[in-house]
Amino acid sequence: MRVRLGASGPVRQVRFEEYVQGAVLSEFSPGTAPPEVASRMLQLQAIVARTYAIAHLGRHAREGFDLCATTHCQLYAPPRGAASRWSAAASTAARHTASAVLWFGTSPASAVYHADCGGHTSAARDVWGGTAAHPYLVAIADEGAARTAHASWTFTARAGDLLAALNKDARTRVGRQLSAIAVVQRDAGGRAALVVLRGEREPLVRGEELRDVLNRAFGARAIRSTRFSLAREGNSFVFSGAGYGHGVGLCQAGALARLRAGAGPEQVLAQYYPGTRLVRLR
Ligand SMILES: [Zn+2]
Ligand SMILES: [Zn+2]
Repeated sequence: MRVRLGASGPVRQVRFEEYVQGAVLSEFSPGTAPPEVASRMLQLQAIVARTYAIAHLGRHAREGFDLCATTHCQLYAPPRGAASRWSAAASTAARHTASAVLWFGTSPASAVYHADCGGHTSAARDVWGGTAAHPYLVAIADEGAARTAHASWTFTARAGDLLAALNKDARTRVGRQLSAIAVVQRDAGGRAALVVLRGEREPLVRGEELRDVLNRAFGARAIRSTRFSLAREGNSFVFSGAGYGHGVGLCQAGALARLRAGAGPEQVLAQYYPGTRLVRLR
């Protein structure tokens, strides 16, 4: 089986397991983890990348390919040659877990993941809305071995810069002034689910939409997650948050901490996708 990969440039055809291996290397770097822990994390990532690809194959069918190579689907930009000291390990991990996929009911699971949940994951419905039932994408306190794995952040922006960024998108347009940004609803994971922007207009937006709009202006490392609180300091707004990414499904920081503490890939997957099971496809 081959995956038709699109994005910029011509559509590429990549062998499925080669795609899995490349996606693993694009989405995760074991960093300073001991080789034995890194190998288990790469196995876990291979199962997740394979499951995600199978569940979303054909997402871009109308554009003439299966998956795009950006974070919209799954990043596929594997480092080349000597730049990738992990490529042999990723290849071993893909082979070791070949055809293993997470399943829920009668379908492959929507195995979404993110870098750091900040201490608590959120339900898919609370972050993205919609009515799709994913009973395994629920809010989970990421404690135990994962308790100290999470990082916090702050981001400060001048009101004028925020105003300009918000006015660039119809969903967040406030008009000529911005007087306040207030979280009106938090989800069970502590994320800002609904935020009201107060100005000439007072749009109510999902926290994840606000993050998307602001990060287009300030970069992906600005509002790292919607697990934030806000304070006004003079002419600036200060976001103080924890975690990095949307916060749904598997938390890579927590998963790595659990593996370091001795857990196996299957145990960790069961933790973040409760109710799913691991099957081997023929
Ligand atoms: Zn895509
Ligand atoms: Zn976590």
